[in-house]
Amino acid sequence: MKRLIFMGPPGAGKGTQAKIICDDLKIPQISTGEILRASIQAGKELGLKAKKYMDAGDLVPDEVVIGIIRERIVEPDCKNGFLLDGFPRTIEQAKALDEMLKELNRNLDVVLNLSVPEDELLKRLLERAKIEGRSDDNEETIKNRLNNYNQKTFPLIQYYREKGLLKEINGVGSIEQIAALIREGLK
Ligand code: AMP
Repeated sequence: MKRLIFMGPPGAGKGTQAKIICDDLKIPQISTGEILRASIQAGKELGLKAKKYMDAGDLVPDEVVIGIIRERIVEPDCKNGFLLDGFPRTIEQAKALDEMLKELNRNLDVVLNLSVPEDELLKRLLERAKIEGRSDDNEETIKNRLNNYNQKTFPLIQYYREKGLLKEINGVGSIEQIAALIREGLK
């Protein structure tokens, strides 16, 4: 299982678990959020385009993130697989990914969905806002991110379920407990 999508609402702990899985499977973690933050830091045009959406807790336009993934998954380190963290987030992105993989003659192996109840997500995100000071971690943007997730990203769960690729993982528990559930799900 080497070509994975890792889904879950903001605050589900995707980033932490994605790192663990990627270390286990020796595949790169491709996080569109991290790529965008790095572009902002570096003052690149891509970052400038994305910043206003990110700061408001809105999704960056599909064509921008699709372009990032299109370039990234053909890099040599993706030959033996990759984990997508935070992409796709809309049906349009998912369809674009399907097309890209078809052109490359590759398949997705599994889509993991880390689920956490919404009140717990809000609590975690507010906590993280205090610790990390990410510019998109304040109450208003957090609520907007959760709304965007519910409206635009949640339907992807059904999209991948219908393709027979979905594995649900309970995202409440310690880091180790959840990592163990994921390892079990990947067997
Ligand atoms: P993340 O680090 O995954 O929480 O992403 C942070 C922010 O980057 C999101 O709130 C969006 O504004 C933007 N972003 C990251 N990935 C995507 C994506 N696949 N589609 C649209 N916007 C994205």
